[in-house]
Amino acid sequence: MLFIAAKSGDVMSRFNLALMLGNVEERVKIMAEMGQVPLALLTAKTHDLQEFVPKLEEQLHSNDVAAHIPPNARLLLPPVPLIRPSDGDSPNWPLLMSIKDIFLKNAYEGQVASTLPEEQPFDVDQEEVPEDTERNIGAWGDEEGLDLGTPAGGDWGMDLDLGIEAADLPVQEAHVEAAGLHVTMADSAQTKWLKKRKLAADLVAAGEFEEALGLLRRRLGIINADPLEPLFKDMYWATCSSLPGPPQGLSLMWPMLSEGNLKSKEVQPVILYTMQKILERVKEGHKLTFQGKFTDALTVFRSTLQAITLSVANDQREEQQLLEMIDICREYVNLCRLEVARKGMDQTSTARMIELAAYMTCCKVQPVHLMLTLQLAMTISFKAGNYVTAASFAKRMIQGNFSNERNKEAITKARQLVTVCEQRASDAHSLKFDIKAPPESFKLCSGSLAPIAATDPTTSCPYCGASYTMQYKGKLCDTCQLSEVGLNALGIQLRPI
Ligand SMILES: [Zn+2]
Repeated sequence: MLFIAAKSGDVMSRFNLALMLGNVEERVKIMAEMGQVPLALLTAKTHDLQEFVPKLEEQLHSNDVAAHIPPNARLLLPPVPLIRPSDGDSPNWPLLMSIKDIFLKNAYEGQVASTLPEEQPFDVDQEEVPEDTERNIGAWGDEEGLDLGTPAGGDWGMDLDLGIEAADLPVQEAHVEAAGLHVTMADSAQTKWLKKRKLAADLVAAGEFEEALGLLRRRLGIINADPLEPLFKDMYWATCSSLPGPPQGLSLMWPMLSEGNLKSKEVQPVILYTMQKILERVKEGHKLTFQGKFTDALTVFRSTLQAITLSVANDQREEQQLLEMIDICREYVNLCRLEVARKGMDQTSTARMIELAAYMTCCKVQPVHLMLTLQLAMTISFKAGNYVTAASFAKRMIQGNFSNERNKEAITKARQLVTVCEQRASDAHSLKFDIKAPPESFKLCSGSLAPIAATDPTTSCPYCGASYTMQYKGKLCDTCQLSEVGLNALGIQLRPI
């Protein structure tokens, strides 16, 4: 930059750059060239640059500037800036034209992970043989998710209290595997933790993005890695700390540990997506759902679902809780997708609008949200002239376990509606929804957002477990937007076996 500034004759840039680089000679030269001879001499004398002094003194006709130099003068240099991550700054995310290539090629036979040494801040032991990620995959589903640009829904009402506190969760010692005893003191922290435990989160924390992607692909059938890129980066940067070195010297990169210190053999990286963090995000999603902000809630639940792939459970209980979180997120993603789809629809498709509202009442969500979906479906059905359907939702509200003060008014209205509907007893639109079937047995195809008949063969997403009709086999799951529908994969691993 300094050279470019000198070439382009930009004096101020030259001076500023010389100042930031701590290049005193250049500053003296610039000031002398610009006619600031006393300042140039003062700078040269302050920094004891004797080679400039005689020439500058000659130009000053023996005027003494030494008297202006403070007795305690010392070299002052600005701190060295740290490198900070930002958008478009890809530390070692595989720099490929298409993310499909990650899975199609022979990952480690074809290339070496450390081909970008300047972009790999941590020195990961080369003896670590990465797992084979070779495996060709079939046709990629080009299914796209629903349009998330639809404006969020209106306010549903009061604040939501979930009754779950992050502090209630147990904080327990992380599990350390007994295997992998060949760790030496000289190994890097990344090598040490990868020898003890090799979950996707550990690999990402060590900067082994490609190996982590390969592992997730084998375990969860991931065919769309795009949503994982920001998660990988966040997870990786969460384990990085840096200590600035001397001017123009290298910074010291220091990995953040959750357990142990760099001298010990038993180290574990900081895990960003802990159970507590996931729970906080689910609570945020619940709140947004209650407020009727379905587009925002959809984003939160889906990103949480994706983040769980990089979670680590400390014990069996936590593992169980994380698996439950996957189910919860899946149900809420489907609920939000149904409502976002309904809001974005042409207002003339009345039957489909009632259907989508009806399917929402079959999502396995918290009672407070179920009550709201029932109210919504009841109102839409009633206004569209589907009185029998509306009465069925009203009955579910009356018979359901919603008998607290908050719902008193809504249940009273539901009773009145049942009376009116029983007098009219007709449906203006025929629906693909059986009001007599129990809601628990309802199965939604997450691809077409239509019910799956009990006799139809079904398939599911290997990660989130969303159900699909067979025509969606081999396509990208619309719920988690990560995995291939119908692939027979190993399933998620949240702690060492
Ligand atoms: Zn899925």
